[in-house]
Amino acid sequence: MCSRDPHLQVSHGVPREITHRHTLLMRVSLFLFPLLLFVALSFSSFTVVRSDSPPDSIALTSLRTYLQLDTSQPRPHYRRAITFLRRLCRDAGIPHFEQFQFVRGRLGCVCTLPGRNRSLASVVLNSHIDVVPVEAAAWTVAPPFSAAVVNGSVYARGSQDMKTQGIQYVEALRRTLQAQPSPYLRTVHVLFVPDEEIGGKAGMGQVVQSTLWRDRLRPGVLIDECLPDERDGVYKLCYGERQPWWTVIRTRGAPGHGGTLPRDTAIQRIHAVMARISAFREAQREAVETGAQALGDVVGVNFVHIGSHGTDGAMNIIPGNAELRLDIRVPPHLNESAMYTLLEQWMGGPCHFHSSVAGRCLNGTFDIEFPHKVIAPYRESLDADAPGPYRALRTAAARQSARLDPIIFPMSTDSRYVRHRGIPAFGLTALDGVRSGPLLHQHNENVPLDAFERGIRLFQAVIDQLANDAEWRASVDTAPEDSSTATAHAEL
Ligand SMILES: [Zn+2]
Repeated sequence: MCSRDPHLQVSHGVPREITHRHTLLMRVSLFLFPLLLFVALSFSSFTVVRSDSPPDSIALTSLRTYLQLDTSQPRPHYRRAITFLRRLCRDAGIPHFEQFQFVRGRLGCVCTLPGRNRSLASVVLNSHIDVVPVEAAAWTVAPPFSAAVVNGSVYARGSQDMKTQGIQYVEALRRTLQAQPSPYLRTVHVLFVPDEEIGGKAGMGQVVQSTLWRDRLRPGVLIDECLPDERDGVYKLCYGERQPWWTVIRTRGAPGHGGTLPRDTAIQRIHAVMARISAFREAQREAVETGAQALGDVVGVNFVHIGSHGTDGAMNIIPGNAELRLDIRVPPHLNESAMYTLLEQWMGGPCHFHSSVAGRCLNGTFDIEFPHKVIAPYRESLDADAPGPYRALRTAAARQSARLDPIIFPMSTDSRYVRHRGIPAFGLTALDGVRSGPLLHQHNENVPLDAFERGIRLFQAVIDQLANDAEWRASVDTAPEDSSTATAHAEL
């Protein structure tokens, strides 16, 4: 069900109505004047459209309908979402729609507005359709797929991460197309991908290897997600992301009777490693808490599991093995060998990494395994003097009297697949003044409607700058087209 909020309809529709009434006022007889004056005064509080006015009913209805579709992992209703998105794009006046499926059941789609110069590389506006699962009982304000509007914010899973952005793209295009039928030099694609929340292998990981990407999307830049900002008029811009290294450390020691005191038990060895990691982690945490460094710029490390096996939980046996699991996040300025050096410091001695996913330390005392390790040391250029997407984005923000705050995304997202192809990818979450701070993956995730509306206008400016920037066209599109694309694909 997608009901409309009557308050929002009123505040949007009134200014035109008032203007009309003012015209009438001049024509009517003196007899009707007091009555009409009363009517006009009763609406007078709506005569000024504030800059933080809420979205119109079309934008809000689209947003709520999309949020009400349960696309949570592990079983997202992709088919329903695609049906909705097809209609959304058509109603916005975007002429082309294509659905894709590279892995069975993992559906995505792309809406395309052709540019006036089809030889130019395109602008791709990306968002993921899926959302993370919910613990429904913990949603205390409104149910997670109600998209209820409470105190000016819409509550739903996916409202910050990142269905709102998908709607903002389409809404920005819809409004621009109402004024101009063919507004852009470059072709603009609105891309909706599946499975970002589970690593993107069946989604963006497939898209970038497809003929769809190479022959039809032909991107010059991709816009993706970042984080909302608490400040007014400030938008976070992600120009790189940390690389997850999920790490398992294992060690052995002699099993023993719980009534003895043997040296170097397995758990003590792991504990020594944990103590060094804890000291390092504490220093990073302090640097972030004091504002000396941003979260995305430091090595993040968290203990996610410690245990041993084989003793069946017996309390009088010293286990002969121990295992520690870490979630490490490596900033892009740190390369693989620098990270290996840091690991050796944590382990307390030299390690030999015999493959990209495994190693041994201190002559075999410890084994290290990386069940998931991303190497994506990419950072986009932040040279505002050079023609390029960054300058276009800055100009767009300035047009909205806003500014960008470039950060390294502390988490990870689909942009890495795109950067790996050599295509610039910027994460831009067009949500400013979000006082709650980022609520991605949290209970009661919500988006203030005034921030949603400002973000639509920001994206109107962003798309206009990216898709019409002539100077940027020269710098990006001089690369040989088909041959260079084919080489880049072969490298993966
Ligand atoms: Zn996301």
